[in-house]
Amino acid sequence: MSAPDIISLEPATGAEVWRGKPCDVDDVVARARRAWPAWAAQPLTTRMELMRRFANEVRKEADALARTIAREVGKPLWEAHNEVEAVIAKVEISIRAYAERTSQRKLDSALQGKMALRHKPHGVLVVLGPFNYPCHLPGAHIVPALIAGNVIVFKPSEKAPASGELLARCFQRAGVSAAVMQFAPGGPGEGQRLVAHDGIDGVLFTGSAPTGIAINRKLATRPDKIVALEMGGNNAMVMWDTPKLADAAALIVQSAFATAGQRCTAARRLIVKASLYDQIVPLVKSLADRIIVGAPFDEPAPFMGPVIDNAAADGLSESFLYLMSHGGKAIKHLQRPDGTLPFLSPAIIDTTAMASRPDVELFGPILQVIKVDDFDQAIAEANNTRFGLAASLIGGTPQEYNRFWANMRAGIVNWNRATVGPSHAAPMGGIGLSGNHRPTGYYAADYCAYPVTSGEMEQPRAVIGVGLKS
Ligand code: NAD
Repeated sequence: MSAPDIISLEPATGAEVWRGKPCDVDDVVARARRAWPAWAAQPLTTRMELMRRFANEVRKEADALARTIAREVGKPLWEAHNEVEAVIAKVEISIRAYAERTSQRKLDSALQGKMALRHKPHGVLVVLGPFNYPCHLPGAHIVPALIAGNVIVFKPSEKAPASGELLARCFQRAGVSAAVMQFAPGGPGEGQRLVAHDGIDGVLFTGSAPTGIAINRKLATRPDKIVALEMGGNNAMVMWDTPKLADAAALIVQSAFATAGQRCTAARRLIVKASLYDQIVPLVKSLADRIIVGAPFDEPAPFMGPVIDNAAADGLSESFLYLMSHGGKAIKHLQRPDGTLPFLSPAIIDTTAMASRPDVELFGPILQVIKVDDFDQAIAEANNTRFGLAASLIGGTPQEYNRFWANMRAGIVNWNRATVGPSHAAPMGGIGLSGNHRPTGYYAADYCAYPVTSGEMEQPRAVIGVGLKS
């Protein structure tokens, strides 16, 4: 019996965007293994040049790519264009990062003599992509991994194969063969089989914590495989004294509701100094009230689109009801105007009185507000999560920011900046359930190659100074 088709649907309309057969995992891996030696043997300059050509192909295809992303995952067209720009920018970032993080070096050691440090690729790497940035985030693994000399099996999210396929085509048009960067559509089943396959050398994953944990568990007995896990967050913003309350409200709304809250770095929890509560919360609410929720191509352009599908919208609605029925007080209700489509309004709920707040990532437009009395309590509350991706302090003095920075357990710690929109020109990743200490962004080079140290002399020269009979 043949496997069922992978079908992706447009969230805004329910129309079909893409349909196709899932990949044959054994074939895909065998093809990648055959392609690897020749790709790894290419001069580094050739691989870098091919990545620059890839960036040019993405530029040529920018409109088609942005339209496909917008249709397939529901984000507004302007935002899909930003994603395409990020794909392009990643190429030069990765070239610089490779040179800086994984360059060749000659070392002279008084004890060992001449030594060299060089890096080698791992081999066949599986890239598993999420739906929310279906081109930029897989690309953030793929480009540095190809530069380093690995070949790629790219399994896009089953919710965004059309975007992934267009991205793969840009690599091919640039001259990277379809065996070196393989497009391998499939769902979680194909993902599991790829992860478990003996023929792969590693997994570069961006997605949810439960999936990342499953991958980690699967590879627990395989220390020979590199595993980079970029997972979700339960990110906090701490609101402290500032005269600029309107700007603060805008940063909070941007952090909580951009991309309909479907960003790993989105603010999920707003922790507010009690004396500021009555000023800032109404400002945040009235700005959230003005948010236009609409389909990606609507005019005027919406701030945010639908969430990815009806199952996600159902889950978020249930989560909101759960918070309400366990002590949360709705400040702005989660509304779903049409029960057959996954458009949700931004929602705000005060969960201060909840006896225990679930420490889960609610991947959608729900912001929880928690009132605190002092700064120590604010930091403790912000750290009250097993995740550790992003945190921001809004307002506060430089001394308070220093304390915040020193005490926050997260890979991104900001001051008077949104939690969202981290730059890939810097390391990008988290700790706890957010990642396994292999950040992507500028540091992706680190997990795409391993260091080889070589002591090197042109002639043998051994010295045994002690412990020999004369
Ligand atoms: P997901 O975990 O559902 O799926 C991600 C990928 O893993 C998909 O390709 C999927 O098919 C595959 N997969 C699912 N189960 C698998 C399994 N058992 N074994 C192997 N592969 C499997 O994630 P999603 O819903 O597509 O993406 C949203 C999540 O991604 C959110 O949690 C978000 O926070 C996270 N994310 C993290 C970052 C980051 O940089 N840290 C960036 C973007 C998104």
